[in-house]
Amino acid sequence: MILIQGKGVSKGVEQGTLYFYERPDSTIIKGSKLGPEAEKERFANAQTVSIDQLHALAEKCLEEAGEETAILFETHAMFIEDDDYVECVLNAIEEESCTAEYAVNQAGEQFAEMFASMDDAYMQARAADIKDISRRLLDNLMGIVPGGIASEEPVILAADDLAPSETLQLDKSKILGFVTQEGSGNSHTAILARTMGIPAICGTGSALGRSYHGRQAYIDGETGEVFIEPDALTLAALKEKHDKQLEMKQLYETMKGLEDVTLDGKNVMLYCNIGSPEDLSAVINNDGQGIGLFRSEFLYLGASDYPTEDEQFEAYKAVAAAMKGKRVIIRTLDIGADKQVDYFEMKKEENPAMGVRAIRICLNRPEVFRTQLRALYRASAYGKVAIMFPMITSVWEVKECKRACQKVMAELESEGIPFNKDTEIGIMIETPASVFVADALAKEVDFFSVGTNDLTQYTLACDRQANDLGKFFDPHHPAVLRALKMAADAAHEAGIWIGICGELGADPDLLPTFLALGIDELSVSPTSVLPLRAELRKSIAKTCTLEMLDC
Ligand code: PEP
Ligand code: MG
Repeated sequence: MILIQGKGVSKGVEQGTLYFYERPDSTIIKGSKLGPEAEKERFANAQTVSIDQLHALAEKCLEEAGEETAILFETHAMFIEDDDYVECVLNAIEEESCTAEYAVNQAGEQFAEMFASMDDAYMQARAADIKDISRRLLDNLMGIVPGGIASEEPVILAADDLAPSETLQLDKSKILGFVTQEGSGNSHTAILARTMGIPAICGTGSALGRSYHGRQAYIDGETGEVFIEPDALTLAALKEKHDKQLEMKQLYETMKGLEDVTLDGKNVMLYCNIGSPEDLSAVINNDGQGIGLFRSEFLYLGASDYPTEDEQFEAYKAVAAAMKGKRVIIRTLDIGADKQVDYFEMKKEENPAMGVRAIRICLNRPEVFRTQLRALYRASAYGKVAIMFPMITSVWEVKECKRACQKVMAELESEGIPFNKDTEIGIMIETPASVFVADALAKEVDFFSVGTNDLTQYTLACDRQANDLGKFFDPHHPAVLRALKMAADAAHEAGIWIGICGELGADPDLLPTFLALGIDELSVSPTSVLPLRAELRKSIAKTCTLEMLDC
């Protein structure tokens, strides 16, 4: 048996094959070393594989999503054999002695440009299809596995670290758990694992070598232990823990449909954090009473160019409509720091966590902000949407955000596009500055939501991404809890509600403190809703004290 120790960041015991994530190299080289005939053959093979994939996708869609999407994939399959497109690729291979990748990429760009320049809006929209088709051919030429995992069976995914944009592309149905050499409890892999309700371990360092790829392992997301081929005694203990976990799950099931209320009648709204519309099923399965944080940046991270207003509108509308009148708080984009997007062409910063990120980008780039706000307000006609701004430090920022909202509402009004003019506006309290001026900020907005991940980082001057800060990164630090109290008092003084959407909100040990502070809402990963409800329903709010705030 081999035991590797890391840090448990998402609870649970799982067993499976360790699979090391291969970072795809998508560099396109022009000159071919193989010659035109071999490149043409490679192209023909990629065509066959792509067409097979598209037929399979169309079949799957026919069963799950309906005919319209299925037809789209069939059309893509037909285009791969389109005479003009194929001729364009083959000519380039022949005339420029280039690789099939280079020829496909070039043909894709040419055809996409041609469609985009057409007058007809329908034909213009086909440019995106051409890019998608070329991307598929390129992936197949370069051996890039869609979803990142070349295994039929679900696996325990191992990696050095995973960037937010990488986790987005992963085929989640193939993942039993995560183990990473780097990362921290606040990394997006950890957040994703908690959303999915699967175990995750980070910070194993080099002890978790690639040589373990393919070996059978057990991971314990509570203790942070990775057992490779465990001995009989360890196996028995792990199995017992696994069974206990299932028992608890059954117990939590009984919490579904019950009210989020203490024994003495104090209601706390238990909402969910999500990263994409894909997470909606987890919200519904876990009986979340709303969405307290929809990290909208997924739309930007998963794209190769700025998502359009329509693309964003469709995503926000889908979430708002699916929640059927329950509150859906959508946070405007929080790019920067660990969430980098190439097409934003941000300058390299020495200290990106304190650089141009989140609301600072939006206020510096009004067009990007306007597009997102228009999509958000349009979606507000389809559910109870609320808009939330991240990384606020000053009152003037909020005023500027509100002016941008007013402008967008006036535009939509004049265009006759429906929206909810009473859409709630809130801000994240995640900087010490916002805590100090919380009284003034509270007068400007409808709610506060405390981002304890960043609030801890900035209050304690501890990088949330670093995994070697150990006990110095302490979200239970009295300074963080006192900040929470200041924000809660300011909110209540101004008559607005306050929630917590950082990871601390799911900590059952702090529930009495939150009740003593009068926190009105906790937004947590979907799988934490039912355990928290169980805890809440056993609590007596009046007896809760602020003991944790003592130094
Ligand atoms: C936070 O900072 O606590 C938060 C919820 O936002 P994010 O983790 O996306 O920065
Ligand atoms: Mg944050």
